Amino acid sequence: MKYIDAFRDGELARRLAAAIAAEADPARQYRLMEFCGGHTHAIARYGLPDLLPANIRLIHGPGCPVCVLPAGRIDSAIELAREPGLILCTYADTLRVPASGGVSLLKARAAGADVRMVYSCDDALTIAQAHPDRQVVFFAIGFETTTPPTAAVILRAQTLGLANFSVFCNHVLTPAAMVHIMESQADPDAVALDGFIGPAHVSTVIGYGAYEGFAAQYCRPVVISGFEPLDVMQSILMLVRQLNDGRAEVENQFSRVVSREGNLKAQAMCEKVFELRDEYDWRGLGTVPLSALRIRAEYAAFDAERRFALPYRAVPDHKACECAAILRGQKQPADCRAFGTACTPERPLGACMVSSEGACAAHFTYDRFRAADKNGDAA
Ligand code: SF4
Repeated sequence: MKYIDAFRDGELARRLAAAIAAEADPARQYRLMEFCGGHTHAIARYGLPDLLPANIRLIHGPGCPVCVLPAGRIDSAIELAREPGLILCTYADTLRVPASGGVSLLKARAAGADVRMVYSCDDALTIAQAHPDRQVVFFAIGFETTTPPTAAVILRAQTLGLANFSVFCNHVLTPAAMVHIMESQADPDAVALDGFIGPAHVSTVIGYGAYEGFAAQYCRPVVISGFEPLDVMQSILMLVRQLNDGRAEVENQFSRVVSREGNLKAQAMCEKVFELRDEYDWRGLGTVPLSALRIRAEYAAFDAERRFALPYRAVPDHKACECAAILRGQKQPADCRAFGTACTPERPLGACMVSSEGACAAHFTYDRFRAADKNGDAA
């Protein structure tokens, strides 16, 4: 299949692996964080660590949108869903993320709340049009990739004059999270990082220029990478070369899609509808300043937090769950005692086991078999 098979070619992967092995300096470490959950999934699915020298370590970052959503925000969504007559719409993975007390939106639905899975925010708008006598709330989550459609749907709701549609906005920002990770490098528990495999889809919207200040300020190279295995392998080679040369630049491996300026129309639409929150709680990262968006006062009629005076209470994760350390790159899924026993994709205890982009789910689906093979066990 054009644009897919070509980026999964085994012979090319072997050649890239040979180039990486030849150019990686055995006297140094290359600790590379893949920010996106899409990269985490591709790395696990295609077994990329097996193709790399031991001194190149790939570290999962906080780029899975479901994983970084804190339990307190899901609690708020569940509270909304329990409002009599209200319909709460959201994306599929969000339904299964455990909130406090092990409740989830799926469990709230089983108990009678009208919670609906949608493929796009436009579906939520259609539901609102079909039920003018009921309040319909779209629970919006995700990074810059999913933010423009939410902005578009708010603008459309305004044009249509819909009085029964609003959005519970939980959109978060990639560069702010990367800055927070680097600002936390002084913490004794922080994992040392030498470079970043930069987001793919997010960068189609914000452009690779958005990381230039970050790379210069923190002296860390960033390579914007596509999600196919050869994309990631080529990005690793580009990072190795930058680190060998002592460079800290932004390079764009995903040039077939990403430009320096990004999608200006999408950016303008988001700027029109959203403004920065002073701070936002991330699962794993804690409170991060200027790292999320809220709906501007001009569109207050479509802001569920204002319409329903929604409170937010920070709540701790399940005490057995190591998601916070995994999202900071400090631990691996297998370090968690619940991994694969009390916590599986069918019955997730923590957010990282819910989405296929979550580190625990990716490791459960792919890596544990390789680990078992290496140990000579039956998985
Ligand atoms: S295996 Fe489950 S409980 Fe453990 S860190 Fe991952 S999501 Fe949390």
